[in-house]
Amino acid sequence: MASSFSCKKWNGGPSNDPPSRVSKRIALEARLLSHPLLQVIHDHTHAVRSGRVRCELEICPRCSQAPDVFKIHERRKRTFRVVVERLVHCVSSLLVRWKCGLCKQTFSECPAFALPYKRYVREVVLDFGRFYLNDDSTSYRKAVRVEGLPVFYDGEPDGVVDERVLSASTLQRWLGFLGRLEHTLRSALRLIRSASPRCDLFRRAQPVVSWKYRSLERRRRLQVGLSLMVAEASFQSLFATSIFPGLATHERWT
Ligand SMILES: [Zn+2]
Repeated sequence: MASSFSCKKWNGGPSNDPPSRVSKRIALEARLLSHPLLQVIHDHTHAVRSGRVRCELEICPRCSQAPDVFKIHERRKRTFRVVVERLVHCVSSLLVRWKCGLCKQTFSECPAFALPYKRYVREVVLDFGRFYLNDDSTSYRKAVRVEGLPVFYDGEPDGVVDERVLSASTLQRWLGFLGRLEHTLRSALRLIRSASPRCDLFRRAQPVVSWKYRSLERRRRLQVGLSLMVAEASFQSLFATSIFPGLATHERWT
């Protein structure tokens, strides 16, 4: 079971590794097992495998009708990346392709911990994005470090770390993705305003320091990203859920 939490399979069986490395690895695997996000992914995988999962959508995205049931059409393997401490862990999971009972067409649904077309899980993208956007003095390069040190990939089962690191360009791409969610932002602000009319979020501009962009388009993207981060906090406290993936899916990730 522990092996499902790392890129390369680790059996925990007899090995030629020095005992210190093995015990370090066992300690790391034990910490990973108790990590809440990894537990969520593991539970999701187990639920999909045993057919105990249901589609969160009520309306079919293909025919816009509400069928009695969406059936599991296919299960697809997918690897997600999670940052724990200063390591990127690759976690295998399953994605469901659903079939509409009315139009018989199929569609995939993004699990709550993931973002569409992103290998890194939602929490990692939002946490690193928020850190960059909220600190005027932080560059992409600084923002992808944890406590000033690079985030490496968890590579070998004997504890040897992969030489790849979480790169500044990856964070730059995440912010480009978040910055394109203008309809999602507008919709979130509308819901926040209806639930809490005294909230002034929608009137407040979210300024981004000028050294962080070279074009008006990039400035707009960063402003949308920053506004989304602020809206996400209010949305969570008002509705006890995230904007992602529910509302963002409803707005077709635009
Ligand atoms: Zn349909």
